[in-house]
Amino acid sequence: MADYVIAPPAIAALPVRGGGLFPVRRIFCVGRNYAEHAREMGSDPDREPPFYFTKPADSIVINGADMPYPTETKDLHHEMELVVAIGVSGSDIQEADALNHVWGYCAGLDMTRRDIQNAAKKTGRPWDMGKAFDHSAPLGELVPAGSIDPGKGLIELKVNGQVRQTSDLSKMIWAVPEVIANLSRLVKLEPGDLIMTGTPENVAAVQRGDLLEGVIEGVGTVTTRIV
Ligand code: MN
Repeated sequence: MADYVIAPPAIAALPVRGGGLFPVRRIFCVGRNYAEHAREMGSDPDREPPFYFTKPADSIVINGADMPYPTETKDLHHEMELVVAIGVSGSDIQEADALNHVWGYCAGLDMTRRDIQNAAKKTGRPWDMGKAFDHSAPLGELVPAGSIDPGKGLIELKVNGQVRQTSDLSKMIWAVPEVIANLSRLVKLEPGDLIMTGTPENVAAVQRGDLLEGVIEGVGTVTTRIV
């Protein structure tokens, strides 16, 4: 055993459909990957290269658990996203080979303190405190990749039973194999890494008490209540 001077932190993990846990190493997130969402954020959705931010692995909220309303915000937004789980390491991965690095997929929410993120954008400062706060990543059960096609399928989020976001995975500006190839040129991807692939349009604020229920056709669901 290593001679740790304090107790080592727990390994963050995602429950897998059918049993078992997927240990989580890092969480990468793609910014502005659907044209209509880029527009609503005031950006030009032309095919500029994808860009990334991260969340800590221990920001995950397990499916069905409550998400505490975070501190220091009055504008907590939902962003419904497809999440890719990497099972095979690689750098400089080719697009044609990219899906061979995927272990599975889940539905997820990139919860955002929009007021803090917007202030950071204005001043050219990092997004971390807008994106990478505690409990900022409610994620559904992980599903083995099997025959899942991440290139198409309904992606939808309901808040208190009302549809808030609805789109299709085919509308991603950068498709999953392109994201994996691009990101793997910037960092070596490792087993346990997650990639949140961006949200479609109609992000909006949620309040304490709201029930968020997301679904991705052919993948699964993510559910959390804001408390
Ligand atoms: Mn997002």
